[in-house]
Amino acid sequence: MRKFVVDCMLGKLARWLRILGFDTVFDCSLSDAQLLHLARSQGRALLTRDRELASKGGYLVKSGDWEQALKEVLDAFHLKDKISPFTRCPVCNSPLREIGAEEAKLLVPPIAFARATKFALCPGCGRVYWDGTHLKRMELIVNKLGGNHER
Ligand SMILES: [Zn+2]
Repeated sequence: MRKFVVDCMLGKLARWLRILGFDTVFDCSLSDAQLLHLARSQGRALLTRDRELASKGGYLVKSGDWEQALKEVLDAFHLKDKISPFTRCPVCNSPLREIGAEEAKLLVPPIAFARATKFALCPGCGRVYWDGTHLKRMELIVNKLGGNHER
């Protein structure tokens, strides 16, 4: 599976790559040299808007608009049929663990619990995700991008 490291200018793109299930490092404390090192040592594709950095071993993202940039990356790396949404935490990049209603009941606000049918816990940061309105909006965007995850 394709893995990424994303430079600090592309935060929204990084978040969306995670939402679509791709292992994505995003850490604004890393220098250009560290980004390049991380890309090489971990076999990650470095995504950047910086021409100079790209010339040293990264992929230059052409669009400044995050939605276009995401489309561009999905095309460039042939990822459209590898999308696996809502399997990775958008905040900390850890793979999510699905949890049952019993466990979710203790973690999710009652209103959300009453409406949701699926729950997932992030073992990395402890956040809980469920299929509420937020997820619906994400699904719309995923569908618009041409992801065929509903197989
Ligand atoms: Zn997390």
